[in-house]
Amino acid sequence: EKTVVLITGCSSGIGLGLAVRLASDASRRFKVYATMRNLAKKERLLECVRGCHASTLEILQLDVTDPLSLAAAAQQVQEQRVDVLVCNAGVGLMGPLETCSYQAMKNIFDVNVFGTIGTIQAFLPGMKRRKAGKIIISSSVGALQGIPFNAVYCASKFAVEGLCESLAVILQQFNMHVTLIECGPVNTSFLANLQQTDAEGSALQALDPQTRALYSQYLQHCQSLFRDVAQDTEEVLQVFLDAICAPCPPLRSFTTQVFMPLTRLKLTSPDGSEYVRAMHQFVFSAGEAQGDRA
Ligand code: NAD
Repeated sequence: EKTVVLITGCSSGIGLGLAVRLASDASRRFKVYATMRNLAKKERLLECVRGCHASTLEILQLDVTDPLSLAAAAQQVQEQRVDVLVCNAGVGLMGPLETCSYQAMKNIFDVNVFGTIGTIQAFLPGMKRRKAGKIIISSSVGALQGIPFNAVYCASKFAVEGLCESLAVILQQFNMHVTLIECGPVNTSFLANLQQTDAEGSALQALDPQTRALYSQYLQHCQSLFRDVAQDTEEVLQVFLDAICAPCPPLRSFTTQVFMPLTRLKLTSPDGSEYVRAMHQFVFSAGEAQGDRA
């Protein structure tokens, strides 16, 4: 019997990659429900799985912010069970906090927080009844530590950590596992897809010059970070695969060790002052050195 996997946000990036990887598994171990908000974007996925068997992949419409869409997608799972639920849909929001519109912030929380909660709620009762199931979350280093100019995104991802850590305590009684995959930067369209404060826009122009300068320094840092340490999707997918196949996957699984020294500071220096200093240095010191030379 195939392992039934339902994945959200499969039109691009990690979701698309994972759907393709599982659907083209040589021993056909998986039946994949690759879901996406907008079915008009299914061509890329279809192209990637060309030649793979119809029996391993089905594409469904699913907007995680729409309860009706969630219920309809759940109904269309022929096996009437989901063994592995991958909550992957997510969006970023970058910019000085003063420039984040209420609408933009609300959208981030709708997708990243309420979308993830709603998706879990849709499949939780069935998993509990069967006393089996895995919930896998596309989480982030930004879910464990604050990143400057990503305050609202981090707030939304922190929320999901709290959600899952709380759930995990109960789920072990039901032979279920929840796993947060903590990704650093990954080479996907995430950066292109995220909402970013428009550099020419009035919100940024109205901002104090010091914050504006810091933000432009941050953007440079972000660029070099993605250039130097971003992982390829394939590398990250292996960590998802390991969690899907492990009998008892852990609550957290890290795709990279690069940020571990920063992440650890929360435990070794609980008052946070060391983290704040270290993160400031990590992001702004290179820029300062350049500034000094200039
Ligand atoms: P991506 O932008 O390619 O993928 C995100 C997907 O979510 C897109 O396909 C998008 O259409 C979908 N989505 C957005 N709103 C939706 C909605 N309402 N309903 C259903 N789907 C919706 O980027 P990605 O890198 O593949 O991101 C996947 C996940 O990984 C996200 O949750 C993201 O926060 C997380 N992540 C990414 C990175 C990175 O650097 N790429 C780092 C850490 C965490």
